[in-house]
Amino acid sequence: MTPEHQKLLKINDATAKKLAKLNLNTPWDVVLHLPLRYEDETHIMPIADVPIGVPCQVEGEVVHQEVQFKPRKQLVAQIRDGSGSVLHLRFIHFYPSHQKQLAAGKRIRAVGEIKHGFFGDEMIHPKIRDAESSSLAESLTPVYPTVNGLNQPTLRRIVQTALDTVPLHDTLPDDLLGRLKLPHLAESLRLLHAPPPSFTIQQLSNGALPAWQRLKFDELLAQQLSMRLVRQKRISGQAKPLRGTGEWSQKLLLALPFALTAAQQRVLAEIRADMQQPHPMHRLLQGDVGSGKTIVAALSALTAVEAGCQVAVMAPTEILAEQHYAKFKQWFEPLGLSVAWLSGSQRKKAKETNKAAISDGLTQIAVGTHALFQDDVEFQNLGLVIVDEQHRFGVAQRLALKNKGQDVHQLMMSATPIPRTLAMSFFADLDVSVIDELPPNRTPIKTRLVNSVRRAEVEGFVLNTCRKGQQAYWVCPLIEESETLQLQTATETLQTLQTALPELNIGLVHGRMKSAEKAEVMAEFIAGRLNVLVATTVIEVGVDVPNASLMVIEHAERMGLAQLHQLRGRVGRGAAASTCVLLFSEPLGEVAKARLKVIYQHTDGFEIARQDLNIRGPGEFLGARQSGVPMLRFANLEEDLQLLEQAREIAPRLIEERPDIVEKHLDRWLSSREGYLGV
Ligand code: ADP
Ligand code: MG
Repeated sequence: MTPEHQKLLKINDATAKKLAKLNLNTPWDVVLHLPLRYEDETHIMPIADVPIGVPCQVEGEVVHQEVQFKPRKQLVAQIRDGSGSVLHLRFIHFYPSHQKQLAAGKRIRAVGEIKHGFFGDEMIHPKIRDAESSSLAESLTPVYPTVNGLNQPTLRRIVQTALDTVPLHDTLPDDLLGRLKLPHLAESLRLLHAPPPSFTIQQLSNGALPAWQRLKFDELLAQQLSMRLVRQKRISGQAKPLRGTGEWSQKLLLALPFALTAAQQRVLAEIRADMQQPHPMHRLLQGDVGSGKTIVAALSALTAVEAGCQVAVMAPTEILAEQHYAKFKQWFEPLGLSVAWLSGSQRKKAKETNKAAISDGLTQIAVGTHALFQDDVEFQNLGLVIVDEQHRFGVAQRLALKNKGQDVHQLMMSATPIPRTLAMSFFADLDVSVIDELPPNRTPIKTRLVNSVRRAEVEGFVLNTCRKGQQAYWVCPLIEESETLQLQTATETLQTLQTALPELNIGLVHGRMKSAEKAEVMAEFIAGRLNVLVATTVIEVGVDVPNASLMVIEHAERMGLAQLHQLRGRVGRGAAASTCVLLFSEPLGEVAKARLKVIYQHTDGFEIARQDLNIRGPGEFLGARQSGVPMLRFANLEEDLQLLEQAREIAPRLIEERPDIVEKHLDRWLSSREGYLGV
């Protein structure tokens, strides 16, 4: 906080530091630091009438006080009120001042919850006040989120000072507020920070309270406005229109062993129409696992190359990037095009050569991990960026991409559909194409839930499958706490399987392997020289080996739904009927049970994602965890859909008609967080 701000709020450096821990860096931040809950100290209840476990205030005379030493040192006082009931007050941490305050004969008030204790009804660590010298509160007392060393009274005083000094004039015009039936901002903030006596705790905790609605609306409106502006900026930006000649894409189509599905043709047309625009494309290609996104990406890439531009293809893991590299090479090199590979773990020399080829324009297509977007990689003429599994990249990587790709066309790909509310809010500047049809002749995958005590039967099943000439994956349990432990488990799994199935060739890939080693094992598996591939979840995304028809997942109960669906999607890619065996261990928690049921019952990725959202909430999609920035503080996308819709309707009109309002509103709400929006 600046010295001016500190002066305004009448706080010293130490306090400012504590506020910073709460992410409160300006007086306006303090104004928006709203109570977590409220306490009712406006009236006194007879001890006899107080329900158990409900916050309340009682008043009585201290009839006894003692310091007990067993089971540990603690202060216990008893008070009696007019109803004749006695209540124990127990303090496990206490100071001499407590003892003084609770001297026998004093009249005191205690605020807290009553519980049934061993020796009768008691309050543990109640808030204590002298009944003679303090008057009853006139309204509910706000309780704020705080940090160590910053107590509630101090925080309340600072908030009050902020409320009195920060200009709280409305950014929104009265006619708009009238139409939406929303109160003024100043009035709303004052009500929530210092509710008048007539308000009850229930009323104030209800998100439907107009004051809360106003704050949520402001926040959602700020988000909508900024997303719109991001979109406007993009559309007014310059990008080279890429009109393909069809020269190479026609050749590739002819060389493919299959014809595109109608859905693939439709999305390809949508992408090509975007690429012909003079402003950057920002499109998401969404399609379930196995729906055939890669070939669509490849044909889009060829369109860009035909128009004389370079293409960057980026994937979140080395294995996936490597596989794209292999596919693209297989498709493009016969056309006389050059494909380059770039990854973090690559040898320095190879990297330098490839970087030079990219900057000299000798290579048309560069495939890799986010190493593609390091500062020192320069493209001669980048026209299109393709990002696979975009939501798996962290915010920093997405920002780097955004900066590099300012004026280029962007195609994102994902198997995970974005829930509608998120599409309307955080991803509002994203056009979406959906592949809603799987390639023909797929035999559906059978899913079986098997208790891990029957592991031997599953091993037998693996043997039978491989004897038919098919292949199997065996995925090791996810151990989030420790990569070392995960590696150990993977190695053990390999040994167990080798011992149980000596006639099979079994390989292992895991995250700690050098990428060359990984690539080697994958190549062996793809070539069919390995019957079984034991893997940690590194194979989760995108791996495509049509001859693999069996997927065994150990400790499936530890995995998320999206992950299970992705893993299961590794099979069912060829003509043979495929099976996915989910091994689980008892006991199962509620969430794990719910997830296994969903994955057992459904094969449609969209339905699974919908159910996942019910079980887990939307946070995962946003990468909010990675960024550490709370995306929405007041509004909740599920509960406040109506407000979101209103904000969405109003935002474009405000931008059109009242740029002054837009500027003020964004200034107030977004100043510090803008960088993260639209990433
Ligand atoms: P995903 O959408 O999960 O990335 P892929 O692009 O890896 O899926 O495609 C899955 C498999 O389907 C690949 O083996 C691919 O060659 C094949 N495939 C793609 N399109 C078709 C099609 N139109 N007809 C038949 N097979 C197809
Ligand atoms: Mg894929």
